[in-house]
Amino acid sequence: MARLTHSYDSGAAAEPLSGDTIGQALARTIALFPDSDALVSRHQGIRNSYAEFGREVERVALGLLGLGIEKGDRVGIWAPTCAEWTYLQFATARVGAILVNVNPAYRANEAAFALGHSGVRMLVTASKFKTSDYLAMIAQVRGELHALERVVTIDGATAGGANDLTWKELVAAGAAVAPGRLTAREATLDPDDAINIQYTSGTTGNPKGATLTHHNILNNGRTVGQVLGYTSADRICIPVPLYHCFGMGIGNLGCITSGAAMVYPGESFEPLAALQAIAEERCTSIYGVPTMFIAQLEHPEFATFDLASLRTGIMAGAPCPIEVMKRVVSQMHARDMCIAYGMTETAPCSTMTRPEDSLERRTSTVGQALPFVESKIVDPETGLAAPVGTPGEVCTRGYLVMRGYWENPTATAEAIDEAGWMHTGDLGVMDGDGYVNIVGRIKDMVIRGGENLFPKEIEDVIFEHPAVASVQVIGVPDERMGEELMAWVVLRDGAVLTADEMRDFCRVRMAHFKVPKYVKFTADFPMTVTGKVQKFKMRAAAVEELGLEKAAAVRTA
Ligand code: AMP
Repeated sequence: MARLTHSYDSGAAAEPLSGDTIGQALARTIALFPDSDALVSRHQGIRNSYAEFGREVERVALGLLGLGIEKGDRVGIWAPTCAEWTYLQFATARVGAILVNVNPAYRANEAAFALGHSGVRMLVTASKFKTSDYLAMIAQVRGELHALERVVTIDGATAGGANDLTWKELVAAGAAVAPGRLTAREATLDPDDAINIQYTSGTTGNPKGATLTHHNILNNGRTVGQVLGYTSADRICIPVPLYHCFGMGIGNLGCITSGAAMVYPGESFEPLAALQAIAEERCTSIYGVPTMFIAQLEHPEFATFDLASLRTGIMAGAPCPIEVMKRVVSQMHARDMCIAYGMTETAPCSTMTRPEDSLERRTSTVGQALPFVESKIVDPETGLAAPVGTPGEVCTRGYLVMRGYWENPTATAEAIDEAGWMHTGDLGVMDGDGYVNIVGRIKDMVIRGGENLFPKEIEDVIFEHPAVASVQVIGVPDERMGEELMAWVVLRDGAVLTADEMRDFCRVRMAHFKVPKYVKFTADFPMTVTGKVQKFKMRAAAVEELGLEKAAAVRTA
């Protein structure tokens, strides 16, 4: 059978990759579209044209120079979505500093790991967000952070250290810096320099710092924008977190490479704020992980919003249920909605459906490799390319693969092989035309009595039940079969369903061995803030609830 390494035939269809640094790309767009909207941060009441946005970024970049930030220095940002986050993203890129994104949901020990491991010199932070008191947490761990010289608070609170500043003082530090110094610094930057470290979301194990370059994330955002046909008339609703590539990469950089507007509905995702932003800002594109789209579609006021301005968007980050995609196309009017697939380590997007693909392919696959990207499926046992149609590990190669994990050569060598392929840990199948379907994580694959079962396939069937709002399928230990399937089901508001009815529904739609033995009704799933369900936590909870400790011990013995 054929084996395939699929690389999109870019031919005349794709523009060449950009050789710009992020600063150069931004300058180009400001010159082309000075008066177009660049940034709308609704919860802050901030609206910047590209000319204004460029000035804000420049003031912050001069401030960084004034405070002695050198090329390659690490500058951390720990804050929910706000305009300052983005000013700092572009300012650090202009001065060649490496921005370290700190997850807004981190607790003190997690933040200390990221800040300490990457050696952050300056940390820009909100003082609090939801239940997180950032300043109290920083005070708690500051003694361990030997490289940290200065904390800058965005909202004007004082962090208490001798060198600490407010945002205004950071900007003021640039007032006396001659703009020529910034130009001189920019002349020393190379697009292949690292400019960003993102600690991976940690569905398992210790976070690793994916280290990305201008070239990685600029070209990825740009290519995705080209596939979606962005122009300066587009307005992108970005409710996904900025600390992830989905927000600061294909969100922010997708806009600044096309002149489109970045629209932030709020500090973090709220379905109502996202719907209001789309309707009131006349957004043409909407980004989200599947759970965000479900929350908008299920919102009691959904039908009251006029979403007709939507044309396109991206659903990504986790398996995208076919039914949810169909509803986004029909009920949210995003007729050119695409599914993208990727990971932080690939800046992030490696495959994507195209607006011109059939609805079937746009809802049931993660598309083909992006221009200039290679994608292949390998047999995890042999490491050789798997035959077309056979599940295996998805591997990605090209300009988008990270430089490596920050100061972790062992983990880097495990992830990127000698030929340059990033091994994703995801299980996928590729068809003869290069369309990929993600069927799960390698470690989430369920092996029941020797039969390999892919949770996504079963989730897609259960999703078709009208009472079901959301579903996740996991494997739980079983003494006889090795593993059995368990479905966690979230019902729609007011819907009633029993476990037996759920299984009856499955029985007529799938082979008997795929029908989940256990069905649990739940209000939600354990999740990371980027909307990734933590199946390992579900498994641990299920073992305890179902009293499967003995089977679990057999399995892991
Ligand atoms: P992160 O590094 O946080 O972006 O997580 C990357 C992981 O998210 C991938 O390795 C996949 O497991 C998952 N993922 C991203 N996009 C998709 C998608 N469209 N379908 C299924 N899984 C996805």
